[in-house]
Amino acid sequence: MKFGFDVDDTLINLREYAFHYYKKQLGQEVAIDVFHSLDRLEIHEAFGMSDEEGKEMWNRSVDYIYYTDCPAYPGAVELLQQLDAEGHEIYYITARSAHHGKDTKAWLKKQGFPVQDDRFYCGMKDDKKVEIIEELELDYYFDDKPKVVETLDHDRLKVIVKDQSYNRHLDMPRFKEWTELDSLFKKQLK
Ligand SMILES: [Mg+2]
Repeated sequence: MKFGFDVDDTLINLREYAFHYYKKQLGQEVAIDVFHSLDRLEIHEAFGMSDEEGKEMWNRSVDYIYYTDCPAYPGAVELLQQLDAEGHEIYYITARSAHHGKDTKAWLKKQGFPVQDDRFYCGMKDDKKVEIIEELELDYYFDDKPKVVETLDHDRLKVIVKDQSYNRHLDMPRFKEWTELDSLFKKQLK
């Protein structure tokens, strides 16, 4: 089977990693509850920043956030390794800017994710992302972003949402932990 994965906040805990980095950089003590109640992807509001200030902060921080020690969600690396070992095809489709493609791919490999160079897509807008996902004719696709998962054709593709505070309004199959999916896949794929 063909499996597609978004990267940020689907396979790796990027926003929370960024949240802790912002706290340190800004010297602000913000409770983690604030993070968990954000209803949008961007995190700068938790620090009292405007969208413009948030964008600047993000641009200043992005290299650190992307390429240091952002943790994968527990069980994600192991599950993808297992799918790979069983002969399934694994695709990564990330909207990170195109110039981050090469380094992101290398970073994912370093974390243990099974990445084949020709099954890694980077640097597209959301509508193009949807197009790529549909052209790949995947069996399963995993993402956290409402704008992406809402646009996909759910008749042709099993779309599964990685549960996040900003996507709970979506009435779609979802999961909280990658370890939950292990048993689902074992049942469906064997
Ligand atoms: Mg994402």
